[in-house]
Amino acid sequence: MAEAREVLLYPDPRLKQVAAPAQPADAERVAADLLATMDELGHCVGLAAPQLGELVRVVVVDVSEHPKGGDHNGRLVLTNPKVVAAEGSKVGREGCLSIPDLTANVRRATRISVQHGGGTVESEGFEARCIQHELDHLDGILFLDRVASIVDDVFRRKNYSD
Ligand SMILES: [Zn+2]
Repeated sequence: MAEAREVLLYPDPRLKQVAAPAQPADAERVAADLLATMDELGHCVGLAAPQLGELVRVVVVDVSEHPKGGDHNGRLVLTNPKVVAAEGSKVGREGCLSIPDLTANVRRATRISVQHGGGTVESEGFEARCIQHELDHLDGILFLDRVASIVDDVFRRKNYSD
């Protein structure tokens, strides 16, 4: 039975570990919990298994309800995902449920192809940014690790619905 779970907060050490490949049974269970947690949080556009303390390579992304959503693939469940092609480069604002008080400017590819357990997904714009953010979690990388300048590119969050 899927359940909404607590999201780990930085500096929990599990957020800095490299997750292992997901086996099918784990993948299904963890994906169900990720989706239930994302739904309960409402404003959330993506979540990675390590944020629930599950060190396996599963992420979910859904930008369909977000104002910046743009072109998107709806609800994505990516198991053992890997970026196989990337182009473009753009700085944009990001936040993370595991670091709720901060946002930051992060440079990401604007268009990506992602190979995963269920095939290949092509993504661009805001959704592509979200996927790259979630995939980073699988390697223990947080968005603050990617900012060019801690002084100029990190901001205290004023509005939690971003
Ligand atoms: Zn995050």
